[in-house]
This record gives sequence, structure tokens and C-alpha cells, in this order.
Amino acid sequence: MLISIIVPCYNEQDVIHITHNRLVSVLEEITPQFELIYVDDGSQDETANYLRQIQQQDQRVKVVLLSRNFGHQMAVTAGLDNVTGDAIVLIDADLQDPPEVIKEMVNRWYEGYDVAYGVRTDRQGETPFKLWSAKAFYRIMNGLSDVPIPLDTGDFRLMDRRVVEALKMMPERDRFLRGMVSWVGFRQVAVPYQRSPRLAGVSKYPLFKMIRFAVDGILSFSLVPLRLAIWAGLLTVALSIIGIIYALFVRFFTLSWVPGWTISFIAILFIGGIQLVFLGVIGEYIGRIYREHKRRPLYLVRERLGFSFNQQNGHVDRQKKVTYAGENSNEML
Ligand code: UDP
Ligand code: MG
Repeated sequence: MLISIIVPCYNEQDVIHITHNRLVSVLEEITPQFELIYVDDGSQDETANYLRQIQQQDQRVKVVLLSRNFGHQMAVTAGLDNVTGDAIVLIDADLQDPPEVIKEMVNRWYEGYDVAYGVRTDRQGETPFKLWSAKAFYRIMNGLSDVPIPLDTGDFRLMDRRVVEALKMMPERDRFLRGMVSWVGFRQVAVPYQRSPRLAGVSKYPLFKMIRFAVDGILSFSLVPLRLAIWAGLLTVALSIIGIIYALFVRFFTLSWVPGWTISFIAILFIGGIQLVFLGVIGEYIGRIYREHKRRPLYLVRERLGFSFNQQNGHVDRQKKVTYAGENSNEML
């Protein structure tokens, strides 16, 4: 049984050596059979060079260098495309997810679960705003999403090979892995843990990127924002019917009438606002259709270190298969 660990790294020069040592010491306690796959997501600092050094000293290490920064979710995807293990663990490079929890996840896997996902019971070293916004996000997300996504769960998790193969069949550009893993199904179990503060370096998810990530998650997993347009429309119709009846009643059955300017001004702004908002919502979905339709690769690899020849072939074949699928669907059109 081989256990693979995927570590996406973006500008993590300050922690990467410490992380590696910690991971190795934990893994050696669990099993002699493991591989560590570091994905360098186009770091601008020394991360890539440090990963090269680590790989040269340790045969169990493989490194995938991406051609530029593609984002955390793509880096993880690149890792998933390159694993060979029977169980695959995703973990951040900054040691916010304690590697010791992997032991518990592996035990759960031995018990027969296909996914063991980490649930944060306590997050140290985060601002109250981040805590609050993260909490709000998970709850809104769950309310809107078509598949239930476990609360307070990040990407720190163990997945069985079968789950990873299922994920690989999902070619979408909008990648929200924790949602995708929920969608896949199989037997899943929560493993509670305490999230520590980042060991060193800075978070790559400032507020703006977090909002973007949240919006992405909601839009790629739910059509509720579109349905809201119907409800908003119905509500406006109801309001206007009341308004119409009132205005006509006053006009025909009393001696006065509804004075014009104020009410028309309010009505025009109200309708205009609602229409613009939902035009934006529709635009977001169209933008996504456009992006999906271009069928670009999810990421590009600059270099792969520590992979055997066969595995490289396997990798190339999979990429080809994706292209063939695209060509076929064009033929059908
Ligand atoms: N990361 C990445 N590409 C990016 C941003 C982040 O590969 O564009 C990696 C990063 O190196 C880390 C993990 O994703 O291992 C989580 O990022 P971070 O710790 O900055 O996010 P936070 O924990 O603050 O949400
Ligand atoms: Mg972090």
C-alpha cells in the first residue's frame, strides 16, 4: 500500500524544509511506503530550487514545477494527475494542517472509508474577521449548494485511489475541490483537528481572493443565484400589482391621485437595480460557459523531477485522452 502526499507550494521558501522534515518523520511512523509530491505553483522565490535540493536528497520525493502561478486548486489538480498511491493526502505547505493528523486519516482509510476529511474545530492565529467570514461562507455555501459540503472543511484530506480517479474524470475549469469530492460520494468520514497558525510566510488568500474563491465555489456548485432572479421578479410583480390597484383605486374612487414624480423615480431605480444585478449574475454564468468552452488545459508543467519513464507516459496519455474527448465532442456538434 503506497501513500501519496500532495503539497502545493507557492512562495513557501521559509517553511518548505521544515515542512518536509515534519512530513517525513510522521510518514515514516505510518508506513515505509510513501511518496511526497510537491507542486511548485510558479513561485517567484527560492521554493523551486529548494524543492530540487530536497528531491535530489530523497528518492521518495517527486516534484512538479508548473509553468506559472495557476492557483492553489490547479496546483492540487496537477498533483492528483501525477500520483501513484493507493491513498492520497492533500496538505498545505505552511503546516497549518498538522501532519500528525494524517495518522488518524490513514486509520480511517484502513477501516474502509474512502475519504477522511479534516474538520477544523479550532483555528489559531487567524483574525476574528477571517474566522467569521470563513464560518459565514461555509454556511451560505451549504445552503446554496446542490450537494452538501461538510462545514469548516478545507482541502486537508485523505482520499482513496478510486475517489481520485473519479476526480480526474471531472474536467471543469472552475475547480472547487472540496465540493467536487462531496459530489463524488463514496464513504466519507470527518476527522476533527485544530488548525494552527501559519509557521512562516504570509497567507496567499487576502480578503479579495477569498471573496473570489467563495463566489467561485457558489457559482460552480449551484444554480440558486439564477433562481433568485425568478423570485425577485415575482416579488416585483406582486409589489407592482399592489401599486397598480392602489393607484387606480385612488384615481377612480377619490378626488385626488397619486402624485407622480417620487413614485416613478423610485420604481425606475428599483427595477433598474434589480435588472442590473441579475444581468450580472447571468453574466457570471455565461463567463463560466465561455471559459469552459475554450477547453484550455487546466495547468502547464514546466518540469517534472523524480518520475520514472513509465509514469511520464501514463501522464501524457491522460492528457491526450482529455484532448480526444474534446475532439469527439466537436465532431458530434
Ligand atoms: N498555494 C498555491 N498557489 C497559490 C496560492 C497558494 O499553491 O496561488 C498554496 C500555498 O503554498 C499553501 C496552500 O496553497 O500550501 C494554502 O495557501 P495559504 O496558506 O496561503 O492559504 P490560507 O491557509 O491562508 O487560506
Ligand atoms: Mg495557510
